[in-house]
Amino acid sequence: MKGIKHDLNLTIEHVSQQAKNNYADGYLQALVDVKQALNGETPSSKYWVNHETIATLKGMVAESDNIVFFGGAGVSTESGIPDFRSVDGLYNQEYVYPPEFILSSSFFRSNTEEFFRFYRDKMVIQGIKPNQAHLALAQLEQEGKLKAVITQNIDGLHQMAGSKNVLELHGSTHRNYCMECAKPHDLDNALDTSIPLCECGGIVKPDVVLYEEQLKHELLEEAANYLFQADMLIIGGTSLSVYPATALIHYYTGDKLVLINNSETAFDERVDLIIRTSIGYALGQIL
Ligand SMILES: [Zn+2]
Repeated sequence: MKGIKHDLNLTIEHVSQQAKNNYADGYLQALVDVKQALNGETPSSKYWVNHETIATLKGMVAESDNIVFFGGAGVSTESGIPDFRSVDGLYNQEYVYPPEFILSSSFFRSNTEEFFRFYRDKMVIQGIKPNQAHLALAQLEQEGKLKAVITQNIDGLHQMAGSKNVLELHGSTHRNYCMECAKPHDLDNALDTSIPLCECGGIVKPDVVLYEEQLKHELLEEAANYLFQADMLIIGGTSLSVYPATALIHYYTGDKLVLINNSETAFDERVDLIIRTSIGYALGQIL
C-alpha cells in the first residue's frame, strides 16, 4: 500500500507537470492512472510514474561514473522555450515564411534584416531559467559522475545551470562573431540594431548552425567519442528522429541506456530503461 501511495504522489506531481507543459495527451492518460490507483487498481498506462522506475534510474546513476547526457528540444521547452521545429500558429502569424526557411543560410544572405527580426523575436528568449533537468545534470558533473552534455539546443541553459562540458551541436545564441574580421561579440551587441554590425563594418552572425549549413565535424567526433566511452547514456527531450541524434547514439555500446521522453521513439526497443515523463521531473528525482 505504501508503494501505491508513493506512486500516486509521483503521478499527481507528474500530472501537474504535464498540464504545465501543455501535454494534453499525457495529462489525460495520467489522470486515468490516478483514478485507477484511487480505486485500488494498478494503473497500466505508460504515464504511470512508478517508484521502481525512478529507483532503477537512481541505481543506474549510483553505479556509473562516466555518464553522458544527450538532449533535444524537450529539455528547453520545459524552461518555456518554444520548439521552432514544432508546427504551431505562433510563427505563421507574423512571418510570411516558415521558420525552417527563415533560419537557412540562403535566407540569411538574401533577407538579412528579416532573418534578424525573426531571430531576435523567436530564437533569443530573455529571462529564461534552467529547469530541474539542467540543474540535476550540472550537479552530476560536479560530483564527477557526468562527463559531458551533448545538446541540440542553442540557449545556453546548461551553462547557466553550472554545467562546464557542454557540446552544443547546433551552436549557441550566446556566441556571435563578425563575418569579416572574426571578432567575437556578446549577445547584447549582436541584438543592438536591425542588422548588427562590427566596428569594421562586417555583419555580426550568431554562432548557430543554420539550415543548409554543416554541423562541425570535430564536434561530432568529440560527441561520438564521449558516447563510445560512456558507461551510462541518458537521452531526454528528443524523439531521436533527426540527424545527428540518430547516428550518434549508435556509438554508445553499454547496457545503461535510459530514455526519458513523453512520446514513443523508434529506439524504444533498444533502450534499457524508458521513463515516460517530463525530463525535468524525472531528473529532479535523482537530486
Ligand atoms: Zn569585424
